[in-house]
Amino acid sequence: MTTALFTHPDCDLHAEPPGHPEQVARLTAVSRALAPLDLLRLDAPLGDEADMLRCHPAAYIARVKAAVPRQNWASMDGDTYLAPGSYQAALRGVGGACAAVDLVLSGAVQNAFVATRPPGHHAETATAMGFCLFGNVAIAAKRALEVHQLARVAIVDFDVHHGNGTQDLLWNEARCLFASSHQMPLYPGTGSPDERGAHGQIINIPLRSGSGGAEMRAAYEAQVFPALAAFSPQLLLISAGFDAHQADPLAGLNWATADFAWLTERLCDVADKACGGRVVSCLEGGYDLDALAASAAAHVGVLKERAHGG
Ligand SMILES: [Zn+2]
Repeated sequence: MTTALFTHPDCDLHAEPPGHPEQVARLTAVSRALAPLDLLRLDAPLGDEADMLRCHPAAYIARVKAAVPRQNWASMDGDTYLAPGSYQAALRGVGGACAAVDLVLSGAVQNAFVATRPPGHHAETATAMGFCLFGNVAIAAKRALEVHQLARVAIVDFDVHHGNGTQDLLWNEARCLFASSHQMPLYPGTGSPDERGAHGQIINIPLRSGSGGAEMRAAYEAQVFPALAAFSPQLLLISAGFDAHQADPLAGLNWATADFAWLTERLCDVADKACGGRVVSCLEGGYDLDALAASAAAHVGVLKERAHGG
C-alpha cells in the first residue's frame, strides 16, 4: 500500500495578478518538495459536473464559466480572480479530490494527497470567495456519501482560515462531521463555536492570534479527536492549509513545521482505528513558499510512512 499524489499542470493556468499570494509558485514549491518521496503519481482528472451539482447550483457553475476572461483577469470578489485557464484549473481540483476518494475507497492505495490550486474551502454554495471557486473537499465528501454509499465521512480543516465554504455546503449534511480549526478573528470572520450545523455535526475551534503548537495540540486533544472517535468515520478527508505556520504572511498563528507532522500522525491514528487508515488530503492555503513546501512535505511524508505501516 502506498500514498497517491494527484496533481496536474493545468493548475498553473490559474495565474493570479502579480503580487497575489495565491500564486503559481505555490504549487511549484509543493511539487519540488514532494519530488523525493516515492508516491503513486497520477494526473488529476477534470471534475464531473454531476459531482459539482451536489454542492453548487447549475446557475453558479455557469456563472463562473461565463466569467472566465479571454485575457488578463476577471474579478469574482475583492481577492478572487479568474484567468483564462482558471476554470480548467478549478476542474482539476474537483476531479483530483473525487478521483482520490475513488482510489482510496477502492483499496488500491492507503491514502492520497491532492496538490491542486485554486483552493476550495471558502467557496460557498453560490459564492466564489477567498481565492476559491468550487468546494473541492465538500464535493468529494458528497461523492463518497452518494456514489460510494458511505454512511459517515469526516472532514478536518486545519487551514488557518475558517472553512466557511465547506461549512455552508455541508450545513445540512448529517452524515458528515466537519471540524475546522482557525485563527479568530481573521478572514472570513465566521467559525465561532456556536455555528454547529443543522445536526450539531460541525465543530469550530477558534485559536487566538499568536498561539502556537501547544494550544493547537490541546484543542485537538480536547475537542476534535474525541469527536472523531465517537463519530467513527468510514473515510477521513483533510483540508490541508499550511498558513497556520509561523512564517505565513497572511495570518498570525505560530505553528512549526513539526506541528503539521504531529497533527497528521494523530489524524492517521484516528483513521487507523475508524476506517483502516483511509485518508484523502487536499491542499488549501499556505503562502510562505518555504514554509508551505516544508510543511506539505512533512504532511505527505507522514501519510507515506503510515501507508507503509498500515
Ligand atoms: Zn487559509
